[in-house]
Amino acid sequence: MDGSPATRLEDVRAAIARAAADCGRDAAEITLIAVSKTCSADVIRPVLAAGQRVFGENYVQEARAKWAGLREEFSGIELHLIGPLQSNKAGQAVQTFDVIQSLDRPSLAEALAREIPKELARSGRKPRLFVQVNTGEEPQKSGVRPTEVDEFLAACSNRWGLEVEGLMCIPPAEDPPSPHFAFLRDIARRNRLPRLSMGMSADFEAAIQLGATHVRVGSAIFGPRG
Ligand SMILES: *Cc1c(COP(=O)(O)O)cnc(C)c1O
Repeated sequence: MDGSPATRLEDVRAAIARAAADCGRDAAEITLIAVSKTCSADVIRPVLAAGQRVFGENYVQEARAKWAGLREEFSGIELHLIGPLQSNKAGQAVQTFDVIQSLDRPSLAEALAREIPKELARSGRKPRLFVQVNTGEEPQKSGVRPTEVDEFLAACSNRWGLEVEGLMCIPPAEDPPSPHFAFLRDIARRNRLPRLSMGMSADFEAAIQLGATHVRVGSAIFGPRG
């Protein structure tokens, strides 16, 4: 892969614009999440300097360590948690992230319902929430089972008072991704959820074609992870 992360960021932005144009969508309705897990602050800084403000991280601890300093250097940062979240880290996650995309089970919904009001009282802010769906029903992968999503979403709202704005999925690595993206879009539609987080470095164009509002791109920007 050629160029620096800042150059590759421009390439990804251009590819998003082309993919949007190809299917008659406005690129402005697609948010690029630069996935910076395992990247040091020094690697991330030029991408911030190039104007990128939305980032994804997989681990609460790593994100807290890296982003406290970067948030002092740059304003307007929006941080998405895209990795699995342990219920006992819900409080830290709520303090650290602007968006939590990995809400995937009742115990976590309960923990978030406990922690979000505390954070609201403390800082006046609360994270936006996406529910992760295990579209491939893979046993090792987190995410709500497709047959249980409607019920889980209803419980998020009625039982835990959580506002969920969208869905997220990670299709099985060995499957063509498009059927999974279409499946997630259909679940979002019938539950009247406006946002769809789907598509990574290898398949964000296909995801855009199928309605992604958020694409999560790591290696195409930062290079292969060690
Ligand atoms: C790591 C990761 C990504 C980015 O993957 P790339 O293939 O490097 O673009 C996107 N989404 C999730 C949930 C991830 O864990």
